[in-house]
Amino acid sequence: MHVKPQILTLQAYKPGKPSEIVKREYGLDKVVKLASNENPFGCSSKVFEAIKTVADQFAIYPDGASEALSKKVAAFLNVTPEELLFGSGADEVIQIITRGLLKSENNIVCATPTFPQYAHHAVVEGAEVRSVPLVEGVHNLTKMLEQIDDQTKIVWICNPNNPTGTYVNEVELENFIRAVPESTYVVVDEAYVEYATATDFPNTIKLLQKYKNVIILRTFSKAYGLASFRIGYGIGNAELMAELNIVRLPFNTSMIAQVVAMVALDDQQFIEHCVIENTKGLEQYIKFCKEQDIPYFPSQTNFIFMEVENSGEVFEKLQSKGYIIRAFPQGIRITIGSKEENEELIYHLKEVLNHKIIQN
Ligand SMILES: *Cc1c(COP(=O)(O)O)cnc(C)c1O
Repeated sequence: MHVKPQILTLQAYKPGKPSEIVKREYGLDKVVKLASNENPFGCSSKVFEAIKTVADQFAIYPDGASEALSKKVAAFLNVTPEELLFGSGADEVIQIITRGLLKSENNIVCATPTFPQYAHHAVVEGAEVRSVPLVEGVHNLTKMLEQIDDQTKIVWICNPNNPTGTYVNEVELENFIRAVPESTYVVVDEAYVEYATATDFPNTIKLLQKYKNVIILRTFSKAYGLASFRIGYGIGNAELMAELNIVRLPFNTSMIAQVVAMVALDDQQFIEHCVIENTKGLEQYIKFCKEQDIPYFPSQTNFIFMEVENSGEVFEKLQSKGYIIRAFPQGIRITIGSKEENEELIYHLKEVLNHKIIQN
């Protein structure tokens, strides 16, 4: 054993098979990947122009503090740049928060299933993970509160939740935060916030002034379609963010990532278009689920979770037809694609599910 013993209870992150490999393995001409909640419409076209303008800066270290980007995002969100902390994806901000806050005697409270990185990093730090099962795909905030004790350093609320797509509304979230002790940090991961259309979806930024122990996570990987560049950020109390900033690697976000994030933020028309198309796409899947009597969770995101049996088998069969989704023990998660991609996937999913019923 080389690493800290608790690390060997974890597994290295295993991504789904890349499209090229699936193509070759199954002898397919076309593969549609609806597995990682990436944007089927790509990113703002302004990004392509911006990239051409930075070619003379490749030999120079980036601005580690992401100053220009901080100013821009701060103005967009109506917060101060001091309240922001950028990372190589929200993933890295999760790591920075965990590294900065957790001692081995601490514990974290999170949901299950939820985004796995909260628990993953806590285990690396030797802290205890208290997972509270979702109820009907939704965070059980009452039970989560009960799990908090004086060693609880972080409570993670993934809102909307990945992989179920469900959300905690404004009243529920504020009531929860109010009940959490000040010495416990509440991290609200809003990776999919752009897609949320519910009128009672929380305006979490508003809560930051009142509750100094709240941190919000956002990313450019999902709705902004910039996953390959690795850029995301945390929003929180300026003093807290300044302390967490000490943990950050000197040059954790690249110059190119900072530049593309800035131009993408300027193109809110692109985001609006994607959200409208996404809502239509969700409706395609909901119609299908209702027709086929497949239980699903209402989603505020660009994916939908369906409770199907033998999810592993369903995944395999779809993959062999060139459609990559994600399987979980409780069901399958499908990223909303373009209209045509959704139609095709629904066609094949119907076949796979009906075929199975006949076999049984
Ligand atoms: C995708 C995702 C992230 C991480 O995104 P980055 O690409 O690291 O910015 C964080 N949280 C949730 C819930 C996600 O789904």
